[in-house]
Amino acid sequence: MYPERVLSGMRPTGAMHIGHYHGALVNWVRMQAEYPCFFMVADWHALTTSYDEVAVIGESVWEMLIDWLAAGVDPNQATIFIQSRVPEHAELTLLLGMATPLGWLERVPTYKDQIEKLSHKDLLTYGFLGYPLMQAADILVYRASMVPVGEDQVPHIEFTREIARRFNYLYGREAGFEEKAREAMKKLGGKRAKLYDEVRTRFQQNGDEGALEQGRALLADAQSLSMGDRERLFGYLEGSRKLILVEPQARLTAAPRLPGLDGAKMSKSYGNSIAMREEPAELTRKIRTMPTDPARVRLTDPGDPELCPVWPLHRIYTDEATHQWVQSGCRSASIGCLDCKQPLIDALLKEQQPIRERAQVYLDDPTLLRNIVADGCDKARKVAQDTMRDVREAMGLDYS
Ligand code: SF4
Repeated sequence: MYPERVLSGMRPTGAMHIGHYHGALVNWVRMQAEYPCFFMVADWHALTTSYDEVAVIGESVWEMLIDWLAAGVDPNQATIFIQSRVPEHAELTLLLGMATPLGWLERVPTYKDQIEKLSHKDLLTYGFLGYPLMQAADILVYRASMVPVGEDQVPHIEFTREIARRFNYLYGREAGFEEKAREAMKKLGGKRAKLYDEVRTRFQQNGDEGALEQGRALLADAQSLSMGDRERLFGYLEGSRKLILVEPQARLTAAPRLPGLDGAKMSKSYGNSIAMREEPAELTRKIRTMPTDPARVRLTDPGDPELCPVWPLHRIYTDEATHQWVQSGCRSASIGCLDCKQPLIDALLKEQQPIRERAQVYLDDPTLLRNIVADGCDKARKVAQDTMRDVREAMGLDYS
């Protein structure tokens, strides 16, 4: 019913590192050629944890956007926008909040997890508890059908689906809908009507997605139904009359694990990252001084690439022949660690050169970037406004 659409976003963290590049941006560039994509700077999300450090947000937003464009995100293919410039996100968050049980928010796995991890901050705030709901609104306001995520984000998409389902259930009904749907069911014929009723109960009571698919297939096959009855029965099956909000699918992205210079998770705040646009001399220095397998004290000591933080970088950046050279050279101590690092340095410099060149265009002319983003915000806002028109109507707020 609604077109395929992808929504993805990032909190503004300033200049991006190669972990962001390989973990998300490479995938965005691939997806923008396949689907209409909406890429969002989640600046309001930054406030949910950094509400007391607002000075850096603006600068971080523009720096991050330059890296998106430098990575190959194409404003002619994708819509690039800033969340806070599309106030419909806030309106939908507020309206969805009216019917969101508190328990749903409290049981989102990342909630307690993050509070523990960021224990130096007071995150017992309304904003932080509500961030999964704002994330749901970010997705639903574009009726996005797909959201690229890593494993840890899947519960958030499931939460979004529950929110959409509840909304459609509460607000997507018409007067006398049930009676009309039951009448339409009779037109399916005895056996089919019975099966329809069974799969509907299985889906609505147990959330059985297989039953939902079975019900949809059954309706698609039923020749005897009018368009109106068919739509009614699709809605009755899913628990709503009209699909106002679309339940998105999580699209798992297999992002390569890219550790930092010290082998821990790559993060700018840990000081162990390589920027997407690192100065060549600095990039070379960083790799050359990376720690290696501690067993390799002398050149003649054999090592094990699996115990060395340089190896995962090789796996991403160098070819199969180099991998074999590293594996046998390291284990037999026939190559030194600086020899081993050189092809990696060369590959990184080669990857980063065109990225630096593309970024320079926006650094030289900041207006260009501002215009691209302003256009993206306008486009995003139009789509969000369409959704909000239906949402307001469904919630009885379109009165005059
Ligand atoms: S030779 Fe390469 S893989 Fe082996 S310890 Fe040195 S840097 Fe690491």
